[in-house]
Amino acid sequence: MSETNKNENRNCAKCGKPVTDNGTGGVAHNGAGTVEQKCQNCGWMGGQYGKFSQCPRCGDQTSLVDDHYAS
Ligand SMILES: [Zn+2]
Ligand SMILES: [Zn+2]
Repeated sequence: MSETNKNENRNCAKCGKPVTDNGTGGVAHNGAGTVEQKCQNCGWMGGQYGKFSQCPRCGDQTSLVDDHYAS
């Protein structure tokens, strides 16, 4: 392990949102989950702890895909 485990001022390399240590060796988006989800129906993007099973904006249950993992 050569990298610091400090939580401060870390940002997701993919989307630039702040991320924090999720306690299990990875990172998660602040206020959201490890995985950023994207709705292919309406374009919504976001996440939560756990995953949405349907889009919180349009309600579509089949168009949510994993966009990227927090990093
Ligand atoms: Zn991200
Ligand atoms: Zn949607």
